[in-house]
Amino acid sequence: MPKRVEGKYSVRMDFEGKDLDMFKALQTHYGISTGTDLISMLLKREYDFLQGKPRFEHINMYEDHVKILDRELEKSGRIVSVYFRKDGPFCDYDQTRECIHVDYAWGVPEVAKVLRSKGLKGPGKGS
Ligand SMILES: [Zn+2]
Repeated sequence: MPKRVEGKYSVRMDFEGKDLDMFKALQTHYGISTGTDLISMLLKREYDFLQGKPRFEHINMYEDHVKILDRELEKSGRIVSVYFRKDGPFCDYDQTRECIHVDYAWGVPEVAKVLRSKGLKGPGKGS
């Protein structure tokens, strides 16, 4: 039974079998080792989804990079920068040119316009 304290709600959860496998897979996927932090992140993610908030949000664009909010990173979301480099867009969070943030950046029309103006080509479309 959950404990009832004003302004606080506590739940004890035990996972086993398939549920434990899913829990461990989510811990690995999100890189969150603490059970409480993982449940918190999943709760916030589900709440944001119900509120109609998308995972990604274009925050701002600068001369050499674009800032994107990723609501699924870390406990309460994280701002990621995608830099416009000569060899292609580069994500500072994943330290790569190929990740979901770079893909998202290409999907923002004003960002794609800047990237194309620098002679870069979109992912897999050859355009
Ligand atoms: Zn990334």
